[in-house]
Amino acid sequence: MSKQTILYIEDNEYNRKIVRQLVGRTSYRLIEAIDGESGVALAQQELPNLILMDVQLPKMSGLDATRVLKADPRTGHIPIIVITSFALSGDREKASAAGANSYLAKPYSPRELLALVREFLPES
Ligand SMILES: [Mg+2]
Repeated sequence: MSKQTILYIEDNEYNRKIVRQLVGRTSYRLIEAIDGESGVALAQQELPNLILMDVQLPKMSGLDATRVLKADPRTGHIPIIVITSFALSGDREKASAAGANSYLAKPYSPRELLALVREFLPES
């Protein structure tokens, strides 16, 4: 059986490194995109099992990318966890309105992130 794939869309190299190391210790396969446009394109091409979506992204925001992917019949079923630094600015409501399945506020612990991922994608 092929590995379950997580697409992480995040412009910050440091955050990508942290999550890459974290996912490297699991059975998941990680693919990455560094802006909203290429993230949407990669999701449509690879049809990952789960998407981790930063909100603040170049070219297309994470919320707009979430709306595009949720409106696309090819990708609408893929769970999207939106990650933001702005826990107090109503981003949870905005993420939910955009169609996100869940939400994680920075700073988060690796344990929290993995627990949330496993809720949507039990490790096989
Ligand atoms: Mg960002």
